[in-house]
Amino acid sequence: MEVVHGVPEVRRAVESARRGGRKLGLVPTMGYLHAGHRALIEQAVRECDEVAVSIFVNPTQFGPNEDFARYPRDLERDLAVCREAGASWIFAPEPAVMYPQGPGVPGTLVLPPESLTRGLCGAFRPGHFVGVATVVAKLFALWQPDRAYFGLKDFQQTAVLRALTTDLMFPIALVLVPTVREPDGLAMSSRNVFLSPDERTTALALPRALQAGWAASHGPHARPADVLAAARAVLEATPGVALQYLELVDRETLVDTVDLARPAMLAVAAQVGKTRLIDNVATDGPAPLAAPVAAGSEARQA
Ligand code: AMP
Repeated sequence: MEVVHGVPEVRRAVESARRGGRKLGLVPTMGYLHAGHRALIEQAVRECDEVAVSIFVNPTQFGPNEDFARYPRDLERDLAVCREAGASWIFAPEPAVMYPQGPGVPGTLVLPPESLTRGLCGAFRPGHFVGVATVVAKLFALWQPDRAYFGLKDFQQTAVLRALTTDLMFPIALVLVPTVREPDGLAMSSRNVFLSPDERTTALALPRALQAGWAASHGPHARPADVLAAARAVLEATPGVALQYLELVDRETLVDTVDLARPAMLAVAAQVGKTRLIDNVATDGPAPLAAPVAAGSEARQA
């Protein structure tokens, strides 16, 4: 495994993979890797000849009052996780490599369709998806992967990146990987490290709310309002959960679902203490609390 930091080194790596006719996978991350990230990397290693993992806390996707400065970082540990998972390259650029114009001057930006960004997280994080789309477009242009791996935990992000890949005509297959959870159901997140023990317990209201909503969606004659009410009841019964949104949306369009016969996603975002958490479940997929837990999922407990 090789650690690369600059554009010329990346170009050399990509050229050597291309010359050898090897299929290249890319796993973009912000580091502080946990078992969710590892699931992406391991799937990429299974499906591709070479895998690059990028580790970059992207400043343009954080708002001015968000946690960019205190976002957790541990490159040494991340390198060990990537090596163990079988990655070929780690790309760990300084911000000046990705944004050479300097701090606060992002240069060319990528604007995703408003229909995909005005709701859900987009309503609470103005500009967030412009930052995500911009950095992913740069990573795609630089690495030119055959396949790129993203987690369904960030469901709205996957919708934005699907549109980006199609609209900007990147010849890249997006592979979407199911959410990896802690044994008690909490979705793995680098931000879980911020939770105090009490907050960690409070945070379980999110997967439990999704579980209740998922169960309600399987009841006879279930309506969207029943699903939302079942999930909301769990959240409202848990002190310390400051709800941002709870929505049942169409998986293609992200608009509120009126018909449970179509593929839908129940999505939640809440602040627990100072930590913002998101989670979601597909109403036609497995129950969130029955989801498989990755081996070694204790690696990054709060
Ligand atoms: P991040 O480092 O948080 O930007 O995440 C990097 C990638 O890992 C994104 O595609 C995320 O959706 C994915 N990811 C984060 N947490 C999980 C999880 N618990 N399960 C599966 N994928 C995840």
